[in-house]
Amino acid sequence: MPRPSPSSPPSVDPVRLTPRRVREIGSRLLEWYDREKRDLPWRRTSDPYAILVSEFMLQQTQVATAIPYYTRFLKEFPTVQALASAPEQEVLRLWAGLGYYSRARNLRATANRIVEAHGGKVPDSVAELLFLPGVGSYMAGAVASIAHGIVAAAVDGNVIRVLSRLFRLKKDPSGPRVRRELEDLDMALVPRDRPGDFNQAMMELGARVCAPAAPDCPACPLRTVCEAAREGNPTDYPFKPRRAETVEVEESCAMVRRGERYLVTQRPGQTGRYRSMWEFPHIEVAKGGKTARRAKQTLGTYLADQFGIEVRVEEEWAEIRHQVTHHKIRKRVFRCSVGEGEGRAENDEPKVEETPVRWLTLEEIAALPLAAPQKRILELLKDAESFFGG
Ligand code: SF4
Repeated sequence: MPRPSPSSPPSVDPVRLTPRRVREIGSRLLEWYDREKRDLPWRRTSDPYAILVSEFMLQQTQVATAIPYYTRFLKEFPTVQALASAPEQEVLRLWAGLGYYSRARNLRATANRIVEAHGGKVPDSVAELLFLPGVGSYMAGAVASIAHGIVAAAVDGNVIRVLSRLFRLKKDPSGPRVRRELEDLDMALVPRDRPGDFNQAMMELGARVCAPAAPDCPACPLRTVCEAAREGNPTDYPFKPRRAETVEVEESCAMVRRGERYLVTQRPGQTGRYRSMWEFPHIEVAKGGKTARRAKQTLGTYLADQFGIEVRVEEEWAEIRHQVTHHKIRKRVFRCSVGEGEGRAENDEPKVEETPVRWLTLEEIAALPLAAPQKRILELLKDAESFFGG
């Protein structure tokens, strides 16, 4: 959240953030902005309410798309009082086509709050702005600085990209901790005399010059102070952590039937993604897969060791593929048979105490908590009951 002064030192080495460099970034950027800034309707006003409306509209919306909506909206609701007293349907009608309608509802709710709690004046402190519906840290900083000249950070996606490249930040900005560090860093750069212009200039530079895939460094006013441009690798920033490599996993799953019932087991309840959920017994076999014969042997041994159930592992009956995080899982389901007199006499007393097992009908299994792949096996089984002569 933007603060009037950084609560912790910026994450950039202070040697790289010298007063001279801070001044240089500010002055180069503002010179460029004064020369190149687009003439936008919300830049022709100093009315905090109009600036607030523009910031709500510009969330998730391109500038060119927002302009006609902004103009119509302010014509219809020229003051915060007019918006606060307008029926919601009327506000939504004017917003129609802009999308993300929660923004319109929040803007109207914010107008109400401003009228009721702030005497109709848009608050000038970041802390108070943050209490308004739909106002997050970026918007609070933008409104405080642009509408009221308060020194505040306003860090949106464009600014994250520019800062990450200027300082070659090797941190993933998607988490809240790094996000706060970026706000502190931005705060250290905001010039005290023109905070609103500086924030708009950073956003404009990110939108028009420091583009995500093709930054135009030769045309950038910050090229001589930009570390990524000097290294020749701006598109390496913002830093993205390497995604874990996909691991192929192969599992053998037992579909063991006795009479009308099937063997299912419950996962231990302490840890793991599927804790306490029920499943058809299965075991992971070596990465890359084994031959069907080895997979069958492994499964038979597992059932005997784990549950004390001697089964005949017969043909492969189905194959289920699914993915869990970076694990690509191929589950080969084997039909297994066990005689009426074989296996455990007391079905619900497991050999391994912490691994409950049950012999249940398909209807009973359907009533248990099952993970998605297990539900798929169950559905296949329901469809194929006749396969087993049931
Ligand atoms: S020099 Fe290039 S990478 Fe650096 S801020 Fe400018 S456009 Fe972005």
